[in-house]
Amino acid sequence: MNEISKMRSAVMMAADRFGRHVDYLRISLTDRCNLRCIYCMPAEGVVCKAHDEILSFEEIERFAVIAVQEGISKIRLTGGEPLVRKGVVKLVSRLRRIPGLEAIALTTNGTLLAQYARDLKTAGLTRVNISLDSLDPAVYARITRGGRLQDALAGIKAALKVGFDPIKLNVVVVRSLEQDLLGFAKLSIDYPLHVRFIEPDLIIRVQEIR
Ligand code: SF4
Repeated sequence: MNEISKMRSAVMMAADRFGRHVDYLRISLTDRCNLRCIYCMPAEGVVCKAHDEILSFEEIERFAVIAVQEGISKIRLTGGEPLVRKGVVKLVSRLRRIPGLEAIALTTNGTLLAQYARDLKTAGLTRVNISLDSLDPAVYARITRGGRLQDALAGIKAALKVGFDPIKLNVVVVRSLEQDLLGFAKLSIDYPLHVRFIEPDLIIRVQEIR
């Protein structure tokens, strides 16, 4: 079986356990991230894959073309943090040209979004999900092990400014941290932001966050 046939059969197997066809594909662009969230990875980070172990943008594009031919209509780009990989804007514009692909979404921690929001919008990105776990700089820094809240907020503002709609905020609720959940609720009233609270339960290492 050649490479294209393997890709095609991988997509053709895309059905859930009830036999329903899956029209949505998530593509992880990198395992790297500029944050170290306590529920996601150890403080020292993880051993990242070598460049030749991850798909090149050309391979991703080829796979996406086949996926769309087989019925995929929405693609979400994820990571790690997808914006740490160079060339994401160009990838979006190439994916956007695939006939039949209706939506390209991005899941990001937002800290680099101020830099890329406008170009991503122009390139054809349709939706953005931003992970943001606290509105308090100290708590945010604690959860992300050193992340700067102001960077994430700047990313959200940039996404609003260039007109992404909807923008979803994913908030992981960590029981032992004081997160201003009402503040998030207010944010969703003041701005066109959809806030979703996520409980990480099993993946939190409770000892680490006490
Ligand atoms: S921003 Fe996302 S990928 Fe990065 S450490 Fe946090 S949860 Fe993991």
